[in-house]
Amino acid sequence: MHERRIAEQSTPFWWKLAPVTPLPQQPLAKKLDVLIVGAGYAGLSAGLALARAGRSVAAFDAMSPGEGASSRNGGITSGSIRPDYATLSHRFGEQKAMAIEAEGKLARAFLYDFIETERLDCDFQLTGLFKGAIGYEQYDTMARGAEALAKRLGIESYAVPHAEQRNYIGTDFYRGGTVRRDIGGLNPAKFHAELLRVALASGLTVHSNTLVTSIARDGPGFRVVTSAGTVQARQVLVCTNGYTDGASPYLRRRLVPVRSRIIATEELAPDVMARLMPKLMMMGEGLQLGFYYRPSPDGRRILLGGRDSSRLGDPAAPTLRLRKGLVKRFPELENVRLSHSWFGNVAMNRDMLPRIFEKNGVLFATGFCGSGVVWAPWIGMRAAHRLMGESTHARSAFDFRPPAFIPFYRGNPWFMPAVIQGYALQDRIAMWRAKR
Ligand SMILES: Cc1cc2nc3c(=O)[nH]c(=O)nc-3n(C[C@H](O)[C@H](O)[C@H](O)COP(=O)(O)OP(=O)(O)OC[C@H]3O[C@@H](n4cnc5c(N)ncnc54)[C@H](O)[C@@H]3O)c2cc1C
Repeated sequence: MHERRIAEQSTPFWWKLAPVTPLPQQPLAKKLDVLIVGAGYAGLSAGLALARAGRSVAAFDAMSPGEGASSRNGGITSGSIRPDYATLSHRFGEQKAMAIEAEGKLARAFLYDFIETERLDCDFQLTGLFKGAIGYEQYDTMARGAEALAKRLGIESYAVPHAEQRNYIGTDFYRGGTVRRDIGGLNPAKFHAELLRVALASGLTVHSNTLVTSIARDGPGFRVVTSAGTVQARQVLVCTNGYTDGASPYLRRRLVPVRSRIIATEELAPDVMARLMPKLMMMGEGLQLGFYYRPSPDGRRILLGGRDSSRLGDPAAPTLRLRKGLVKRFPELENVRLSHSWFGNVAMNRDMLPRIFEKNGVLFATGFCGSGVVWAPWIGMRAAHRLMGESTHARSAFDFRPPAFIPFYRGNPWFMPAVIQGYALQDRIAMWRAKR
C-alpha cells in the first residue's frame, strides 16, 4: 500500500503551525571566536549563551535550522536517562548516579524557566506523564521506582493501580502505571522557532543550508571548510547528533542514528478524547520497543511515536506498525484516519548517555538518545560555558570521556536489525512473564 493512503501528509504535524524554512543568506565572517556545527536545540542554545557573553559566534546547518530532529520530535519534556538508577550506580558509583539524576531535575527546571523568562510561544503545558505497566510484576517495580524518585529527588511521582487507571488513560492495555508530575509537552517546532528568534536577536549568526565539510587544526585554532567558504575559528562545537556526517568522522564512529517515527490522528470528537486521555497527559510504557504518545496541544488529536526500523525512503510498514499499536491500546480507534506520519533521526551511543566531551580540541554536545527536548538545550548551554572556561556553569555530570568506539562501524549501522531483534525478544519475554 502506498504511504499517501495511510496518512495524508509525510511532513511533521508541527510544521503546520511552525514551518521550517531556510534563513536569508548571511555574509561569511572569515574569523570567529566559536563556530558551531548544527542549529538544532543544542547548537542554538550554545550559540545563544556565547552570543550573550559577547563572543563572535556562528552556527552552520546543512539543512534549514530545525529541519533535523528539533522540529520533528514528540515534544515530550522527558529528560529521561536510558540506564536506570541501579545500572548507573553499578557503573559509576552511587554519587555519580545521583548527580546524573539530579541534573535531569535541573535541566527540566532550566527549560521551563527559559520558556517562561523569554516568553517563548511554544504551547508548553506541564501535564505530567503516565507510564503504563504491561504486567503486575512490572507495576510493583515501577511503583517502587516512583516512591524512590519522590524520596531521592523530591519529584512528585506516584503509582496508579489498575483499578484507577481509567482516570488517566482510557485503555485496559496496561496493568496500572506511574505518574510523574515534572514532565509535560510542547510544540517542538514552535519551541525551535522561538529559540532561533531569541538566539538571532542576541547576536548569533545562523548560516542555513550551509554544509560543514571538514574541521582541521590550524595553529591554536581551527580551519573549517563550509559550502560557503573557509572560516578560521578559535573554538569549534559540534552539535549534529542524529544527523552526524563525514565532517566529524570521529563522532560518526561512536554514534548510531536511529529513525523514530510519529503518526498523528485526524481530529477526534471531544467525548472520545475525554475518554481516552482524560487528563491530557504525556504517555509512555514499560517496553523496550514501546510507544510514546500524547494529545496534540489543542487536545484534539493523538500523536503516537516509536521505532522505525526502515533505513531508506519513506516506506509504509513503519506507519502501519504504529497505527496497529495505537489501535491495540485504543480499540475504538480502529477506523481512525491519520493526518500525518513522519520520521527523524535520534542518536544512540553505546552507554546510552548524553554527554559533553572533547577530542583534539573540538568540543561535542551530543548523544541525546531520543530525549533531547530537555537535554539538548541544557547540554548545549553547558558546553558553551565550558568553551568560555567557566567553572560553575560548565560543571556537568554529563562531562564524560568520549563515547566508546563501535567496532566495524563507520556510519552504516549494519548491526541495528540484530539489536532491534534483541529488544523485541526482551519485550516478548516481558509479555510472557506478564502472562499476556
Ligand atoms: C521522531 C522523533 C521523536 C522524538 N521525540 C522526542 C520527545 O518526545 N522528547 C524528547 O526529549 N526528545 C525527542 N526526540 C529527540 C530530540 O528531538 C533530539 O534529541 C533533539 O532534537 C536533538 O537536538 P540537536 O540539536 O542535538 O540535533 P538536531 O536537531 O537533530 O540538529 C542537528 C543538526 O545538525 C545539522 N548537521 C549535521 N551535520 C552537519 C554538517 N556537516 N554541517 C552542517 N550542519 C550539519 C543537521 O542538518 C541538523 O539540523 C525525538 C526525535 C525524533 C526524531
